[in-house]
Amino acid sequence: MATLRMEAIKASKLKKPIFVDETTERRSELFGQNVFSNKVMLQFITKEAFQVLNDAILNNKKIERKIADQVASGMKSWAISKGATHYTHWFQPLTGSTAEKHDAFFDLMGDGSGIDKFDGGQLVQQEPDASSFPNGGIRNTFEARGYTAWDPSSPAFIIGRTLCIPTVFVAYTGEALDHKVPLLRALHSLDIAATEVARYFDKNVNKVIATLGWEQEYFLVDKDLMESRLDLVLSGRMLIGHQAAKGQQLEDHYFGSIPERALQFMRDLEMDALRLGIPLKTRHNEVAPNQFEIAPIFEEANLAVDHNSLLMDLMKKVGARHGFSVLLHEKPFAGVNGSGKHNNWSMSTDTGINLLSPGKTPKSNLQFLTFFINTIKAVHDYADLLRSSIATAGNDHRLGANEAPPAIVSVFIGQHLTEVLDELERVTDGSLSPEEKTELKLHVVGKIPEILLDNTDRNRTSPFAFTGNKFEFRAVGSSDSCAGAMTILNAIVAEQLRKFKVEVDALIEKKHMKKDDAIFNVLRELIKSSKKIRFEGDGYSDAWVKEAKKRGLSNFKTTPEALKTLTNSESITLFESHNILTKMEVEARYEIRLEEYIKKIQIESRILGDIASSYIVPTAIKYQNTLIENVTGLKELFGKDFSQHSKEQMELIKSISGYITSIREDLVAMVETRKKCNVIEHLDEKAHAYCTKVLPFFEKIRYSCDKLELLVDDEIWPLTKFREMLFTK
Ligand code: ADP
Ligand code: MG
Repeated sequence: MATLRMEAIKASKLKKPIFVDETTERRSELFGQNVFSNKVMLQFITKEAFQVLNDAILNNKKIERKIADQVASGMKSWAISKGATHYTHWFQPLTGSTAEKHDAFFDLMGDGSGIDKFDGGQLVQQEPDASSFPNGGIRNTFEARGYTAWDPSSPAFIIGRTLCIPTVFVAYTGEALDHKVPLLRALHSLDIAATEVARYFDKNVNKVIATLGWEQEYFLVDKDLMESRLDLVLSGRMLIGHQAAKGQQLEDHYFGSIPERALQFMRDLEMDALRLGIPLKTRHNEVAPNQFEIAPIFEEANLAVDHNSLLMDLMKKVGARHGFSVLLHEKPFAGVNGSGKHNNWSMSTDTGINLLSPGKTPKSNLQFLTFFINTIKAVHDYADLLRSSIATAGNDHRLGANEAPPAIVSVFIGQHLTEVLDELERVTDGSLSPEEKTELKLHVVGKIPEILLDNTDRNRTSPFAFTGNKFEFRAVGSSDSCAGAMTILNAIVAEQLRKFKVEVDALIEKKHMKKDDAIFNVLRELIKSSKKIRFEGDGYSDAWVKEAKKRGLSNFKTTPEALKTLTNSESITLFESHNILTKMEVEARYEIRLEEYIKKIQIESRILGDIASSYIVPTAIKYQNTLIENVTGLKELFGKDFSQHSKEQMELIKSISGYITSIREDLVAMVETRKKCNVIEHLDEKAHAYCTKVLPFFEKIRYSCDKLELLVDDEIWPLTKFREMLFTK
């Protein structure tokens, strides 16, 4: 009987690329077709209403019911004209995916006839049944229900026949239950703080937005092959499997030509994404076989976060159309690179200036240096909190595993900017002499643009790197929402800019320094006090681990360790003073993330147990029986000389017995350990126990299973192998 594996391989080989017709419409025409954009809105609501709405969005003001009614009416007409029948509030609960609850536009009139209905009330608020979303105990203690509320800063869109309205998700008692609420609050805080600082340089600045351009990495594997592996289906990664003889050693996949089937998937995905207003621009192969990357043009951070969440959903749907499974897990396959999601981040003013882009004049460069140095200082002061923002069970396999970014947070800025900061560090304490000012303006600050153009040295091993006109936070996991990382990053930069402003103002007011002098003086201190976070060398090397330790930088390799920072008093103060989250909300989130971690390890442990005991061990025994039969036959044939002819077989029989015994013993011990962990009351201790006591069994069990894979006849091996998963086109 053919194994599921053999069937899957056969099925995968029969698949042909599904060609996508791209000739009918240009991409620029497709863009935003299914989005209720400003342009579309203006066709459906009055100019006055539009202005009031935009004013409210820009200034974070409440939207009146009258305006909401107008917008709803316009949205409904537009959606129905595009064939939509339902609407949903689209939100991002703390499960890591998106959620929706569909309602028809249809309602009944008093006389029993039907009518299309959707008004401001329905646009603004909806009550999903919230009881099944994680809440970290908030709702149990306080209020059993939550509601979703319209986020007018992210435009509505249509998927299929459903109008999707981006919303926040909050408990009736007001606590945030999603990723968007704290993100919006952090972005608001950044806006206030950065605008104040930007006004040192240009009084015309009235708003600063954070910008985000994410790069999404993923693996594409055949759907039948994927479904032949219980571990991939249930946990997103291969828990066992001997590494392929050909891995990524040759690195021939990177920037190689994209296989046709994958290319057609990408085309299809890009067209669907463009219609939804996701400005996808770049696609290429990644380092590992069957690994790819997709990236859009950057956008305002909240919108970019929504677009990334939307894209992750879309990838799965479009993948299915092409017979693919899209793997977003951070480390689906041991031995080849994992997947990340680089978050390219900067700040931009309403006067159109990128605050992390050096300009043409010394003044604009001083502005650049101000935001640049303050960001470094923020990362320095809150490195552990930043690390906590990206901590998940999946990402633990990447960070610190000798590949894309280490678990130690550091900042890379390149040799030239290092020299600039070194020069600035020598600024006199107090007011600068005219000579000093000229020197600085001409030779340090004035030289930055040309320096940056030459600055091609890129350090791929840094978790947080400056790349010319933006910082790139590379440690974010591929399956994670960008919201967590973006909330923390914007919050800590807001906090730092706030402090910076206080210090500069104090020098101006109390020491009567000129503004430039005051700025130079404070920057000098920031450079000095943030030095230890800067690292230009190889982030993967052992030397860095030692050096970082000496510098007092943390190296949290696991989620339970990394998450602890979230609830310390410094973090709580930050969250509360910027109105981002209350202490209770932070603690709830901490609990949710620990629970998620525990569940992940628990589930993986069970799957590993199932696979090992119901696939691996029986197959090994079956093969061993064949060997025993063979030896018995040889004995009949050769009589007492048989041992001479069956040495190999006897060795194999013994080895197989040895591995089977190890697997059984480890499985029993793992289950015992799990039982002990499960009765631990405190979540943090439980997570720690799962991490340090249960997890180590994975490697041991895997080792024995992988050895058996090498010994057992390939024809009867039940699980699709690494090379088949990764190299089948
Ligand atoms: P890489 O060499 O790392 O691939 P790219 O120049 O292709 O870098 O940019 C990667 C991402 O960075 C893209 O999504 C791009 O839109 C984004 N990006 C560029 N400028 C900014 C900016 N000012 N703010 C945020 N993201 C940006
Ligand atoms: Mg990049």
